[in-house]
Amino acid sequence: MRILLVEDEVPLANRIKSVLKKERYQIEVAFDGSDGLDEALTETYDLIILDIMLPGMDGIEVLKEIREAGLKVPILMLTAKDKVQDKVSGLDAGADDYLTKPFAIPELLARIRSLLRRESDEKTSTLSAHNLEVDTAKGEVRRAGTPVKLTPKEYSLLELLLYNKNRVLSRLSIAEHVWGDNFDLFSMTNFVDVHIKNLRKKLKDDGDDRIIQTVRGVGYIIKEP
Ligand code: CA
Repeated sequence: MRILLVEDEVPLANRIKSVLKKERYQIEVAFDGSDGLDEALTETYDLIILDIMLPGMDGIEVLKEIREAGLKVPILMLTAKDKVQDKVSGLDAGADDYLTKPFAIPELLARIRSLLRRESDEKTSTLSAHNLEVDTAKGEVRRAGTPVKLTPKEYSLLELLLYNKNRVLSRLSIAEHVWGDNFDLFSMTNFVDVHIKNLRKKLKDDGDDRIIQTVRGVGYIIKEP
């Protein structure tokens, strides 16, 4: 599950980011409205958490642009305590839910789960390729019907490849998604190879009909005709 957080308060953004990572969500952070909008329009997210008070372009404007572009992604707005009008405008402009600051983390997690559940009731939450299936709502992986136990990093890696089925992902972009931008990404690309190797072992993915294919000198791909 990929979540975009648009929040300009750096300490709060970092706190939310680390909590969501522990909950095994893939999370990207944008610190202002126009970056958030760019990210929302160019990448695919399952949920967007959008603060209203942002420098430059505010959250309501970002929300309107996202809806105008035809994106139906669930959006959870963060509003200041006494700004009732913000909530009204947010919901009018197509927000799915809102949370008043300051909020407790368990409350945030509950809202996220509820929005994602609502969404996954409407669309399937299963990603698949060949005889491999990933239930992204439960975080479960099966190969030929047999459950496979993965570490959180291996799981994120597999989910990322499946979300981008039939697209080659560079080792660098994989490193960025799985480990975030707090690392020296160029040295992380070796980690990617190691994790792919472990992932293949656990998935018993070897031989000529590998699900995860290596694109020499570039990265990896899961292909399905
Ligand atoms: Ca703010």
